[in-house]
Amino acid sequence: MRRPCVAGNWKMHKTVQESIALVKELMPGLDSIEKVDSVICPPFTALAKVSDLIKDSKIEIGAQNLYWEEQGAYTGEISPGMVAEVAEYVILGHSERRAYFQDTDDTVNKKVLAALNAGLKPILCVGETLEENEQGKTGAVVKRQLTAALKDVSVEKFGKIMIAYEPVWAIGTGKAATAEGANQVIKEFVRDQVASLYSNEAADKVRILYGGSVKPENAKEYFQQPDIDGALVGGASLKADAFIQITKAAA
Ligand code: PEP
Repeated sequence: MRRPCVAGNWKMHKTVQESIALVKELMPGLDSIEKVDSVICPPFTALAKVSDLIKDSKIEIGAQNLYWEEQGAYTGEISPGMVAEVAEYVILGHSERRAYFQDTDDTVNKKVLAALNAGLKPILCVGETLEENEQGKTGAVVKRQLTAALKDVSVEKFGKIMIAYEPVWAIGTGKAATAEGANQVIKEFVRDQVASLYSNEAADKVRILYGGSVKPENAKEYFQQPDIDGALVGGASLKADAFIQITKAAA
């Protein structure tokens, strides 16, 4: 039985003060929900403060990116070790990073390997664009992204990874994938590819989240699907009530 997880990607939202306020609203609600992992991913600047605040709470914390080198002359970048000081998880391969910041299959792989070496748990995002979807390429794209991102990742290390299937056309658009459609992609392409890369056991164990316009109103439909183990939530994770309701729906 896979334990559900609801992760909030705050993207480039919330100052440190705003992050503190949101976490204080989230804690009582999320701490009272049993049998679901909740992860929040604030911007880098708020990680240290938020990580202190949630020390005695059930909430876990993640970053939204990292750079693969351990240290050096890489102005503006954050190393895996720096992230690991203040977070447990890290979102990697998000479509916004692939679209706006030149993350490629190859650099996502470097980040995954570096994150795992630093003891972080990657939330690895895959998903097709609208054009790829309309051309019937969803399966090919998702399989290619997974194969590339997981190159040289041992089966033991793979056990630390969560995957998020996020169709690009559903992110921040209000145009969510149907629950059945998302489940089908996750089962037939994502879980199946994990089975081919590793084993049926690894495919059975890995938690796979759906992401793309998940809200309190539609969350339950996703969580009722057999292959969907939770959600990666963008917009709706910025409001305490909405994020708590989505997490409750996963319980
Ligand atoms: C995301 O950024 O990962 C996401 C799923 O965003 P939204 O929920 O806003 O579509």
